[in-house]
Amino acid sequence: METKRNIAILGSTGSIGRQTLDIVAEYPHLFHASLLTAHSSAELLIEQALRYRPERVVIANERLYDTVKEALAGSGVVVLAGHEAIVQAVVADDIDTVVTAMVGYSGLAPTIAAIKAGKKIALANKETLVVAGELITGLLVTSPSVIYPVDSEHGAFYQCLVGEDCGNVSKLILTASGGPFRATPREELATVTAADALRHPNWDMGAKITIDSATMMNKGFEMIEAKWLFGVPHDRIEIVVHPQSIVHSMVEFVDGSVKAQLGLPDMHLPIRYALGLPGRLATDSYRMSVTDYATLTFERPDFDKFPLLGIAYEAAARGGNAACIVNAANEVAVAAFLRDEIGFLDIARMVEFTLASVPFIGNPSYDDYVNTNEEARRVAASYIK
Ligand code: NDP
Ligand code: MG
Repeated sequence: METKRNIAILGSTGSIGRQTLDIVAEYPHLFHASLLTAHSSAELLIEQALRYRPERVVIANERLYDTVKEALAGSGVVVLAGHEAIVQAVVADDIDTVVTAMVGYSGLAPTIAAIKAGKKIALANKETLVVAGELITGLLVTSPSVIYPVDSEHGAFYQCLVGEDCGNVSKLILTASGGPFRATPREELATVTAADALRHPNWDMGAKITIDSATMMNKGFEMIEAKWLFGVPHDRIEIVVHPQSIVHSMVEFVDGSVKAQLGLPDMHLPIRYALGLPGRLATDSYRMSVTDYATLTFERPDFDKFPLLGIAYEAAARGGNAACIVNAANEVAVAAFLRDEIGFLDIARMVEFTLASVPFIGNPSYDDYVNTNEEARRVAASYIK
């Protein structure tokens, strides 16, 4: 009989976290959720703990510790609190795979700890690779840990590359839906609101990544994520807008052949693939019929309308702490936009201003990334005032 694989889900109350729990529930003979973490969604974390019976849960917001502790008293679930507790819990011996489904910079420290402890990583938290891709890939060289991508585009690259020699890749073709403002004239972007930007045409995701999709920062981040995951330089990663979100990405090889991976825009698919590796998990869930998608279109992105795309390429070309600066400024800007404190076009302006203001470090250490993140947040916040 197969033994169950213990899965840690960091950010279990979010969009990816909840869908990962759906996959755990779909294959109860294969998976057990042994660690769940959340930031402030105490009620949902409690509900998940009572249903999935993990060994441990962590609530990052320490003010909610008593609430979670009392609700789970007598359940056998150990309750911990605080960011450091996530970093400590993730290295427990019984954990096999860590799904990094928290949002933003908060993913960095637990991912590093999990890699050092030799865990398999199913990586949704792309910001970790954006902030410190060089450090993470360096750690992987000496660790038995591996990263399986959860992001749908990177899951597509991974599937296209199975059985291929990476030396035969000439180009990665990264598809983008184009977000809610693909067809909105540039002049109108000055007045769009957070509510407008949160209406994504194809994907139902957390607020931060939905805004990143509207600015196309998300695609810039995915270009950087692909660079680190597959060792392909930024100038051989092409972004194309594909509004139907059916082709999840493509790889062009040296002989001119192009492979693509297709599927419905449903994150259960790439999560199921990442957790099923090295095999595939059979499912009865809804299938696409290609005849329902008779028209698939591809167009070049508009770098003038979405300046964060160009900024992402610039940060990738500079290397060092540049992408860490971009990520920090973007997190501050997106949070401010979601609070209606700044306009949509200010997001890119704030990122550009911060990238130009924070000192560049060519070979950052872990501490340099921590300091860069803090400094960039401070500079970005000063732009608002
Ligand atoms: P959500 O906002 O839906 O969920 C984020 C999760 O992280 C929640 O569980 C939240 O807890 C927790 N969290 C938030 N802040 C912190 C913090 N400071 N410390 C610890 N935990 C925290 O995000 P998504 O699920 O949409 O995205 C998660 C990651 O996956 C992101 O990096 C995103 O880019 C990536 N991704 C998402 C996709 C999607 O379809 N949603 C697709 C591809 C990648 P709480 O609920 O308590 O706030
Ligand atoms: Mg994606």
